[in-house]
Amino acid sequence: MEQVKLGKTKIEVTRFGMGVLPIGASHLNLPVPEGAAVIRRALELGVRFFDTAEYYRTYDYMAQAFAAYPFSDGNGPVISSKSLARDYAGMRAAVEEARRKLHVDKVDIFLLHEVRGEADFRDRSGAWRALGDCREEGLVQAIGISTHHVDTAELNAKLPESDVLFALINKDGHGIRRGDGRGTRADMEAAILTNHEAGKGVYAMKVLAGGLAAGRYGQMLDYAAGLPGLDAVMLGLTSEAEAEDLAAYAAGTLPKGYAPDVAKKQIHIVQGDCEACGSCIVLCPARAIKMHASGDFAQVSPELCVGCGYCAIGCPVRAIVRI
Ligand code: SF4
Ligand code: SF4
Repeated sequence: MEQVKLGKTKIEVTRFGMGVLPIGASHLNLPVPEGAAVIRRALELGVRFFDTAEYYRTYDYMAQAFAAYPFSDGNGPVISSKSLARDYAGMRAAVEEARRKLHVDKVDIFLLHEVRGEADFRDRSGAWRALGDCREEGLVQAIGISTHHVDTAELNAKLPESDVLFALINKDGHGIRRGDGRGTRADMEAAILTNHEAGKGVYAMKVLAGGLAAGRYGQMLDYAAGLPGLDAVMLGLTSEAEAEDLAAYAAGTLPKGYAPDVAKKQIHIVQGDCEACGSCIVLCPARAIKMHASGDFAQVSPELCVGCGYCAIGCPVRAIVRI
């Protein structure tokens, strides 16, 4: 698979990477050997870039897959992880956990996870400082920000200490935010380019609009893969067949108009993105969504959900995905 350099970092990644979130405890909760087999298949097909996060609880899957894989020298995986930590100690603990559970001395990339604008970034300045210190101490190689917000992406371009940006972008503009409202695709495209010109490595998430646009697989990937300034594209994978689809797309051998079978996909709420507004609960005709007892996020009951997607359309922060 084609390799690219991430901005001014010395990190080389494959042009397409695997988002590990959907196999993990917060989504499909696959048994570890089963989830590790999906990662292994991606490795066999040449994928060497993996996105995870502290709260995804996927380190065990990755450690198992990587430990058993016969990497040749200089051909190992590049791991990008991130944390929702808001303070210095929380971020230090998140980096330590990643190093310990992934059995690595240095995490390739570690991000401040889902920054929601400049005020949020300022509130998390301790966590950001911790990332800078971890890089200084050689515990992580590159640091940056992940976000759905155009204003945060614009901010990232101006942060001299940031190496990378992991931004939400897709052909439908689904889920792009600015401040408390919607952001536009055009503005996020411009912010990606600005980051690229500032020397940041830039990679994209939710290029299939959280699975909601999986029926337009080729079109959605064509858009993302052709975006000026974007180095790499992450795609959440849930099965070996999906890894094979991605590899075929990357090799240019996927038939035009190919659409994966999404009949078995289910609606999930990404806990770290949910702002607990309750709109989806009101919108759901099947009464399949409830607020978690903590009051911090909503949850879907798969046995009640009929897959209509009304909840996803009404979610102000686009925290609802189909995987
Ligand atoms: S997809 Fe439809 S039935 Fe399922 S949780 Fe959303 S609104 Fe409810
Ligand atoms: S509509 Fe979105 S943000 Fe609001 S509770 Fe539902 S998932 Fe969370």
